[in-house]
Amino acid sequence: MGFSKTLRGGVSSVFAFLKETLNFMFPACCSVCGKLADADDRFSQYEEFCMAYKGVPSGLHICGKCLSSLAPNEPDRRWFFCLSDPYEGDPVPGLPLYMPLTYEGVARSAIPAVKFGKKPGLANLMGCLLGTCLKSESVHADLIVPVPLSSARMKERGFNQAAEMARPAAAVLDVPYAGDVLVRTRNTDRQTELKGSLSRIANVTGAFGISEDWDVRGLSIIVVDDVATTGFTLHEAAAALYEAGAAKVLCAAFAGNRQIKNAEVY
Ligand SMILES: [Zn+2]
Repeated sequence: MGFSKTLRGGVSSVFAFLKETLNFMFPACCSVCGKLADADDRFSQYEEFCMAYKGVPSGLHICGKCLSSLAPNEPDRRWFFCLSDPYEGDPVPGLPLYMPLTYEGVARSAIPAVKFGKKPGLANLMGCLLGTCLKSESVHADLIVPVPLSSARMKERGFNQAAEMARPAAAVLDVPYAGDVLVRTRNTDRQTELKGSLSRIANVTGAFGISEDWDVRGLSIIVVDDVATTGFTLHEAAAALYEAGAAKVLCAAFAGNRQIKNAEVY
């Protein structure tokens, strides 16, 4: 008994020593800000975080500062309307948008790190956090779907960051995930590269349709995107779902512009 306890203690201290040595020889950089871990940090907070949150991907390196900024901590400031001041003839008069973080600071570094640094694991982490927030609000649905990427952008990037967020969010919420419900009917320009709301509306109007393989009539659906800057993209995705007979659509984005021109719901 005493012997096996001593042996276990010995093995774990050998592992701790090896880990320290590897950390020293190959210091890891934070996946978000790119800085080397502090000697006393060593990304240990992230390891604790993995244990506390269901489905959080292990193996990421995120420093304590970035981690604390990514974990949403303002539960009373998360609900918005997506285009609550719709254009004439808008088929979606009011669309709730759930958005736990403002698109600034660390969130503003993390999203490009996912897209351009090609870090789908980081998007998985954001999806887990988003799902956990939605769960704390007792949100439920029949299906979770991501905003699809255009085929050109999919080819360039290799993955859809919205899908990488939606999948773990669905797992946390225990809601079925379907990545192929929404389809792009045409390629669009990047919303962030367009100036003015009229050109942004025109860029995405009617850009989405529903796959012939799906019948969404009567379903309640959560549409997930990584960022909501104007809300137009999510709005158009929701319009396509409503047109196909969905009963209720709710939008969720990990971060967004809180100056979004709409009145806030809460
Ligand atoms: Zn960092």
